[in-house]
Amino acid sequence: MTFDLGIRCRTLLPMTGGEGKVHQDQFLGVKDGLIVESGPWKEGRDLECSRFIDSGSRIVMPGLVNGHTHLAMSLLRGYEDDLPFHKWLFERVFPVEAKWVDSEFVEVGVSLSALECIRFGTTTVNDMYFFTESAAKVLDGAGLRATLAWPFMDFPVPDEKHLGDQALAGRPARFQAFYERYRNHPRIRPALGPHAPYTCSDDLIREVTALSNRFQVPVHMHVSETEKEVRESVSKYGKTPAQRLYDLGALHSRFFAAHGVHLTDEEIRLFRETGASVIYNPDSNFKLGSGIAPITKFRRAGVECALGTDGSASNNDLSLFGAMDLGTKAQKVAHHDSTAMVALDALNLATYEGARALGLGHLVGSLEPGKRADLILIRTDHPHLMPMHSVLSQLVYACQGLEVDTVICDGRVLLDQGQFQTLDPTTIYAEVERIRLKLARELALHH
Ligand SMILES: [Zn+2]
Repeated sequence: MTFDLGIRCRTLLPMTGGEGKVHQDQFLGVKDGLIVESGPWKEGRDLECSRFIDSGSRIVMPGLVNGHTHLAMSLLRGYEDDLPFHKWLFERVFPVEAKWVDSEFVEVGVSLSALECIRFGTTTVNDMYFFTESAAKVLDGAGLRATLAWPFMDFPVPDEKHLGDQALAGRPARFQAFYERYRNHPRIRPALGPHAPYTCSDDLIREVTALSNRFQVPVHMHVSETEKEVRESVSKYGKTPAQRLYDLGALHSRFFAAHGVHLTDEEIRLFRETGASVIYNPDSNFKLGSGIAPITKFRRAGVECALGTDGSASNNDLSLFGAMDLGTKAQKVAHHDSTAMVALDALNLATYEGARALGLGHLVGSLEPGKRADLILIRTDHPHLMPMHSVLSQLVYACQGLEVDTVICDGRVLLDQGQFQTLDPTTIYAEVERIRLKLARELALHH
C-alpha cells in the first residue's frame, strides 16, 4: 500500500500559507503520520490506501491549535463562577489547588479535557498546570499533540508539597528529568511555565530564562491579563509587566504570553523586536472581565498570535469554535468596525498562524505535504450550517464544535464518526463524578 490513510476531501480548507482558499474534490495521502501527497482526486486512489475515508459532505480542515489551557482545571468547571478576578484566583482557586490537586486529580481532569478537545476538533494543546508528568502520560495515551509547561512560582506548587525545604531548589533538576524523558517524543514537547509576573520574582524569571536558553524549550506565561496586574507591577517595580520581562531578558522567540490584554504600544514593540508571541483568550477575558486584547494591533505590528480557551474554570469549555466566534466579534466591537477582524483571521489564529506562534509551524497548522497529518472532518448536515454560501463564515460564526465528526492526529484516528478511539468516556465520567463527590463532601465540612 502506498498510503496508511487516504482521504477524499470533497470540501478541503487546507489553510496553506494562511490563505482561506477552499478546494473541491482533493486527495490527501498519509504515510507514517506525515502528509505525503495532496492533489486532485483521481478514481482508484482508495485502492492504494490501507484505510480510506470519503469525506462526503463533511468539511476537511487542519486540527485546531489551542494556545492556552489548564486542562486539569476542567474538574473545577462551574465550581466558583462570577467572582472578582483576584478573589477568584487567590481566595478560591489557589487554596483549592493547594489542598486537592494531586496526580490523580490531574490524570482525571486531563482525561476529561482530552475527551473534550478531541470532541471539539482540537489536536494540539499548549498547556500549563501541575503534575506535568501525569498530564503527559494521559495526553500521550489520548494521541493528542501537546506542549506541556512545567510550573514555576515563588511558592511551592502542589507537586512539591512533600518536598519541604527542597521544593524550590530541586525544580531545575526535576524539569530536566521531564525534559530528558520527552525531548524526542513525536507529539509531547516539554516547556517551562512561570505562572505570571506577579507570582514570579526577578530571580525566578532569570532562572526560567536560563533553563529555556539551555534546553531551547518554550516559556509559557500569563502576561498583562488585568489592569490590576499592570498597576501593581508599576508600583512595585516601576515598570509594566512586559517591560520588566524584557529588561530581565525573558522575552524571546520561544516566549508565549497568554492574554496580553493590557499591553501598551511600547510593549507591543518589544514583542515585535524579540519575536515573542501572544495568545488571545477571548472567552476567559470576557468572563473574568479582564478586557479585550488588542489582537488586531499585535498582528498589524507583525507579532504572531494564537487562540486559546484558557482553563475550563474561566471559560467554561474548551471549544475553539466558541473562541473564534467571540474573539472575532470582540475585535469588531472594540474597534467599532465590522472589518477589524474577519472569519479568516480567526481560522488563522486557530490553525496556521497559531501553530507558527507556538513554534510548531513546521509540523502542523495547514494540510500540505511535509506536515504531520493533524486534521478534522466536520459534518455540515445540520440546520445551522445551511446553506453553505461560505465555508469560512459557517466555521467561525455558526459552528459550535460538536459538528466535528472525525479527528486525526499524527495520522492516527482519535474520533471516528463521533466515537472515541483512544479513550473510554464511560470510565472517565465515572472518575470525574467520584472526584466531584469527594470535593463536595469536603467543601460541606468546611462551610
Ligand atoms: Zn490561564
